[in-house]
Amino acid sequence: MNQTSTIERVCGPIGAFCNSYARLPEHFFARLEPTPVATPSLVQFNAALAEELGLDIGTLDADRLAAILAGNLLPQGAEPIAMAYAGHQFGGFVPELGDGRAILLGELRDRHGVRRDLQLKGSGQTPYSRRGDGRAALGPMLREYLISEAMHALGIPSTRALAVVTTGESVYRERRLPGAILTRVAASHVRVGSFEYFAARDDNAAIRSLAEYVIDRHYPEARDAAEPIWALMQGVAERQVQLIARWMQVGFIHGVMNTDNMAISGETIDFGPCAFMDAYDPATVYSAIDHTGRYAYANQPQIALWNLARFAQALLPLLDPSPGRAVERANAWLGELAERFAEHWLGAMRAKLGMALQEAADLQLVQALLDVMQRGGADFTLTFRRLCDAAQSARTDADVRVLFTNPDAFDEWAVAWRSRLRREPADSQQRAQAMRQVNPAFIPRNHRVEQALDAASERADFEPFTRLLLVLSRPYEEQPSHAAYADPPQPNERVLRTFCGT
Ligand code: AMP
Ligand code: MG
Repeated sequence: MNQTSTIERVCGPIGAFCNSYARLPEHFFARLEPTPVATPSLVQFNAALAEELGLDIGTLDADRLAAILAGNLLPQGAEPIAMAYAGHQFGGFVPELGDGRAILLGELRDRHGVRRDLQLKGSGQTPYSRRGDGRAALGPMLREYLISEAMHALGIPSTRALAVVTTGESVYRERRLPGAILTRVAASHVRVGSFEYFAARDDNAAIRSLAEYVIDRHYPEARDAAEPIWALMQGVAERQVQLIARWMQVGFIHGVMNTDNMAISGETIDFGPCAFMDAYDPATVYSAIDHTGRYAYANQPQIALWNLARFAQALLPLLDPSPGRAVERANAWLGELAERFAEHWLGAMRAKLGMALQEAADLQLVQALLDVMQRGGADFTLTFRRLCDAAQSARTDADVRVLFTNPDAFDEWAVAWRSRLRREPADSQQRAQAMRQVNPAFIPRNHRVEQALDAASERADFEPFTRLLLVLSRPYEEQPSHAAYADPPQPNERVLRTFCGT
């Protein structure tokens, strides 16, 4: 491995725009500019993120800013490319996907010195568009904006959203919709599918270059390890283990965990049909295209593991000179990983229940609650949020038990929970406080999300969107004036299906 960072070599100082990915071999991407749009108009802008990125937009007038964020004008130093990648979609391998409607402009070094990709999504056709129009509709772009920012506010690693502009053009899906472009900010856009792209072509030199690139950018500690590739695998896996545990903690269902939608950086990426669960059911699926429930809520750790197996598979030629030995090592790694996922999930659930100690019977206690919740149709978010108060005083148990159609079963479970909590060192107030840091009061409830997107998309009314975004920016705080945003949907408000909107 190189001793000096490739990125440091090719990119300049803080504030300068550059594109280190465009320094990789030419077959890693296609060079092309975004396709200009008719009349760009800025409808959402993330000023706090712009500030974090050190973007100097104070001197720009609104038209120029909208033109840049629509791809009509390129910022200085940008080197627009569409990245090549492959991917396993619903288990089937597609050797060429790539950015079919996105353009990577390059990177900015943020105020913390971290390189962040700026990508325009919905920016027109590329060599990877296949039959797609390269465009995006306003609803799905606002959806990604909202959910990715909500994930960030929840403290979960995620790509971010800098802006949404409408294009003044229509896109045609089942019907005519307003077109839009999202500016996405990411630690990088390298995916498991990026490695698979080269593995499918037996291009070991490319796999090595890509591995060096991501080590430089995301896993610098692996550079000096005895076996950098092995260290990279450990690093990527560890971040996925952490990430999925966080998803499970808040009831997030990604919806399309294809290997092209798993970022090597460990950020949540590609918010298509994703949704948060209301009533707890491990088999919950919202995505209209997930017919078999492959990406159901409770399957997510197992699917992440499956995706990591595809990652390891792509790295096999670099892992060990002996193919047999490489496979053996990768399998041993996967076996250990399965345990890490299970351990981490349990840790995440312990935290939700205010349990800092680790006891052998905890898994049973957690599972018992989940079973009662499932049978009782209890709301996932509200149950855990109200348990924060109940952890402090049994007097508030009534607020929890009303969430269950089987309150007696909850009562019985609560007795076991309390006797377990008595062995915890923290006092009840500290415990409740810690629980409120992992059990949000506010999540992007599907019915609220749909209402906000409909208002914006159908009536150009952005007020519900802006308000929802604001509520979701402080998910762990009580917000009495917005209490209704914590409520689950009424039966007639329930959203059962979500669409990726491509
Ligand atoms: P996704 O389901 O959004 O992760 O996208 C899967 C693949 O389809 C990626 O290669 C995308 O770039 C491509 N794609 C999705 N929508 C479009 C579109 N409207 N035009 C061209 N390519 C698209
Ligand atoms: Mg994708």
